[in-house]
Amino acid sequence: MTPETIFPGPHHDHGHCVAAALDAADGLCARRGVRLTTLRRRVLELVWGQHEPVGAYLLLEGLKAEGRQAAPPTVYRALDFLLEQGLIHRIAHLNAFVGCRQPELPHTGQFLVCRRCGIAAEMDDSKVRAAIEHGARAAGFTVHNSVVEIEGVCARCQESAGSGEKEERGESAYFAQNRFHPTRSG
Ligand SMILES: [Zn+2]
Ligand SMILES: [Zn+2]
Ligand SMILES: [Zn+2]
Repeated sequence: MTPETIFPGPHHDHGHCVAAALDAADGLCARRGVRLTTLRRRVLELVWGQHEPVGAYLLLEGLKAEGRQAAPPTVYRALDFLLEQGLIHRIAHLNAFVGCRQPELPHTGQFLVCRRCGIAAEMDDSKVRAAIEHGARAAGFTVHNSVVEIEGVCARCQESAGSGEKEERGESAYFAQNRFHPTRSG
């Protein structure tokens, strides 16, 4: 497994990521008989606006910027729905959300979160999953949601570390600097 396989390159076709995620969500919700309302779909699209986890506040701002009537509970309800369906994951240490690339498959979200560029890359190592399941079962514990968060620095940021222009960002900087990139839809 090369870093490229889970860390998106700087010049990748992100429109494709978004389109694939929305397609998957449409299909998944239709099969499950749950409603991917316009708002839920738009929130999912905004979460997928970038590969950095995005906080609820920025999502709310994004919706307001589009002239939608959106109150925080509306956004949280939409996020709850997306979490329930496995379409997004919550990165607890950032209190932020990131799209899931394989919502159809039962898996534990295992995230490598880069402290420099902020990208959260999801891996799904079956051995990690098995170890968690095994440990939980042995403890008589019923798992409802499991996300493994690993903080560090991605390969590309390590390569560019010599340039001296980048500094490690604190957690709150993610939110300040996490710009919104509304994606083209359709
Ligand atoms: Zn992408
Ligand atoms: Zn996932
Ligand atoms: Zn990075």
